[in-house]
Amino acid sequence: MTFKDLEIIPPILSALSEQGYTAPTPIQQQSIPILLQGKDLLGCAQTGTGKTAAFAIPILQNLLANKTGTKSRNISALVVTPTRELAIQIDENFTKYGKFTPLRNTVIFGGVKQASQVKALRSGVDILIATPGRLLDLIQQGYISLNHIKYFVLDEADQMLDMGFIHDIKKIIAKLPTERQSLFFSATMAPAIVNLSKKILGNPERVTIAPEQTTAEKVEQCVYFVPRQNKIPLLKHLLREEDIASALVFSRTKHGANKIVKLLNRSDIHAEAIHGNKSQNARQKALENFKNGDTTVLVATDIAARGIDVDSLSHVINYDLPNVPETYVHRIGRTGRAGASGMAYSFCDVEERPYLRDIQKLIGQTIPSVKEHPFDTVEDNGENNNNNNARPPRGNNNSQNNRRKSNYRSSNRSRSPRKD
Ligand code: AMP
Repeated sequence: MTFKDLEIIPPILSALSEQGYTAPTPIQQQSIPILLQGKDLLGCAQTGTGKTAAFAIPILQNLLANKTGTKSRNISALVVTPTRELAIQIDENFTKYGKFTPLRNTVIFGGVKQASQVKALRSGVDILIATPGRLLDLIQQGYISLNHIKYFVLDEADQMLDMGFIHDIKKIIAKLPTERQSLFFSATMAPAIVNLSKKILGNPERVTIAPEQTTAEKVEQCVYFVPRQNKIPLLKHLLREEDIASALVFSRTKHGANKIVKLLNRSDIHAEAIHGNKSQNARQKALENFKNGDTTVLVATDIAARGIDVDSLSHVINYDLPNVPETYVHRIGRTGRAGASGMAYSFCDVEERPYLRDIQKLIGQTIPSVKEHPFDTVEDNGENNNNNNARPPRGNNNSQNNRRKSNYRSSNRSRSPRKD
């Protein structure tokens, strides 16, 4: 199937071909016809499936079909998304796909001064991408009216609820015209999410793409059992010895992320951190450096990493395992995007074993553990006993491992790692 088969109009087709998109992804194949017909949509899909284009393309096409002139622009499409990074990314996608149309889009988010956002709004926009807080703020100040919204997208609904945006969302919904097309996306469909979707959608068509397991199957995974104090040496070792083009390293806390960066930089491994305590500019700069390859290692917290879309990210490293198993799937979904393959390493200390069990239950797989690595002092207690064929990461065969192990031990005799 091609985008032409989906009856996408020439200006958008040209933009897609400029992006190098040759065929629609499954969510695009299923959602675009529904949305072009003006129906509501309940999409169960995570980032990485091509879901942004799945809603952006039909919105652009529908807006263009109904456009009467450019003199008076009203905000006709609203996309609400939980994080600034995601908002910026969606805005960039609208800009790319709408490049050959007269439609205008802009993005607003908190944590920065509002002046330039207000200026962009004043000059007139058709499509607004927003995080909830700043949206309500600018509505209250009279800079934004939602009276002309024809298309409303609530993106990453599960994350919205996790981040406590439920009241903001309800306030936003109350301001929308009842006559509208609504799209609701969530990676998971817990009862609270389904309830929220009922408040937004009329009689939606449902599209379910890439169940959590699919991403997990696509990404090559392995776990290193490692005592907490050996995690930094193990991380340095992997970054030096493995063929890692780009690594997104996950830390559970902001403080932890800073510490990892500091210790890596001290060992001449250039790394940057991205988390909520960094200024918006610092976050954008770190992301840009990572995207253009100036930084190979980006250390992030879950919330900050939510919107990170880096083409061909080769490795995700879970320095800390998440205590919410779905988060693991979100994390490893940063690599292996849009059909590419990816690699996910997880570090698991003794206290994190229960998290690992929950993750394995969710994804329905036993993650192979790397045996005999240079920093393992934790005895495998048999929980992972299905992995006799455990395959070490690429280019990391056992003889290499043993050699590294003995090298490491001989050069670090004075260290005595804690026995867990
Ligand atoms: P998303 O799920 O919207 O975050 O998209 C994930 C990635 O897939 C982004 O880097 C998009 O640019 C890319 N992408 C979206 N649609 C296609 C397509 N039809 N062909 C190739 N890449 C795509």
